[in-house]
Amino acid sequence: MVQSSTSKTLQNAEAMCLDAGVRLTMKRKRTLALLLEEESPVSAYELIDLYKASYGESLTAMSAYRMLNFLVEETLAHRLNSVNKYTACEHINCNHAHDLPQFLICDNCQSVSEAGIQKHTLDQLKADVLKSGFSMDNQQLELHGLCSNCQ
Ligand SMILES: [Zn+2]
Ligand SMILES: [Zn+2]
Ligand SMILES: [Zn+2]
Repeated sequence: MVQSSTSKTLQNAEAMCLDAGVRLTMKRKRTLALLLEEESPVSAYELIDLYKASYGESLTAMSAYRMLNFLVEETLAHRLNSVNKYTACEHINCNHAHDLPQFLICDNCQSVSEAGIQKHTLDQLKADVLKSGFSMDNQQLELHGLCSNCQ
């Protein structure tokens, strides 16, 4: 059952895709709806189970990854590299440009919250990293700890 807040978010996601010249197909839309309705991030294999339970259709692992990658490329979802799971973007209904996402991941209940890092903080971080001679490619930050409910 798709909640009304989810269907509004899906409409906005569709508009974003239209702007970007890509198509939010039925399967991509369903995948995003599942991510939006899950409280914690899901792995590709969990997505396959959820998809089957909600829509009675089996996805291959390849098509699950393909849809998830599409959503990540369009910043409708994010991949949490440290746990190898996916979560819907919290800013689909916002008008502002997407900041570099920073994730706060609770290691007890697996909840994730997305916070944008201020650009100057990031520039400072990059400058310091560069000084050490290290070259950064993935700039997404994932911080692990306990959420306020679990402390
Ligand atoms: Zn986001
Ligand atoms: Zn926002
Ligand atoms: Zn927690």
